Amino acid sequence: SYGFSTVSGVEEKQARVNDVFHRVAERYDLMNDLMSGGLHRAWKSAMVGWLAPSRRPGWRFVDVAGGTGDIAFRIVEASGGQASGTVLDINASMLAVGAERAVKRGLAERLAFVEGNAEALGLPDDTFDAYTIAFGIRNVPRIDLALAEAYRVLKPGGRFLCLEFSEVDLPGLDKLYDLWSFKAIPAIGGAIAKDRDSYQYLVESIRRFPNQANFAAMIRKAGFERVQHRNLTGGIAAIHSGWKI
Ligand code: SAM
Repeated sequence: SYGFSTVSGVEEKQARVNDVFHRVAERYDLMNDLMSGGLHRAWKSAMVGWLAPSRRPGWRFVDVAGGTGDIAFRIVEASGGQASGTVLDINASMLAVGAERAVKRGLAERLAFVEGNAEALGLPDDTFDAYTIAFGIRNVPRIDLALAEAYRVLKPGGRFLCLEFSEVDLPGLDKLYDLWSFKAIPAIGGAIAKDRDSYQYLVESIRRFPNQANFAAMIRKAGFERVQHRNLTGGIAAIHSGWKI
């Protein structure tokens, strides 16, 4: 370095993530199916099932790193069409795919698609009944800032729910999972999305993310109470839940 390096580590990481999702936006949902063998659908259903969105009119949620809207659509549907929500993502390409889908599904008036950063939401305090984030927090450079923001925008009594890849805790499955992630996923990414490096990056980001217990400790540190987690498919993914009391 000659002292001209102005891009901090945080900006560099975020720039890398943004680049990945700009490139994969159009094929994002197909790739999810291929890479998780369709499991991401069951995991998302488990998250929305645990959330059990209220059918009370006026119940509001924010889905951060909401991408193409998958979680938000499920929440509105599970609420019997009563809930309304904000889908926030840093990436306009992902949001554009989501907003178009919302129109096709007749859910456009229930959902607002907003460009923003999980680390600084730009949303008012004490606003939402639920904050959800699925396969998103791992991509955020400063997780503690994202958790602080989650706490801030929730109403007292509001619920935090996070779905994320986690640490496999089934002997035998871990070996298979390693093969799948380090060999198959980059290969599928190369073949289908013509972008092996992006998928290699995603696999590495999964391995760097804190395990179930460590992530739960971070959520508590942000102020949440009654923090619990549930493992999915032997810990390949986990859902963490907490409450702003
Ligand atoms: N939640 C969606 C789902 O489960 O299908 C999308 C998940 S996708 C793996 C991760 C998303 O996180 C991308 O849409 C990406 O643009 C978004 N993202 C990455 N960094 C972010 C940040 N700092 N703030 C908000 N969103 C971010």
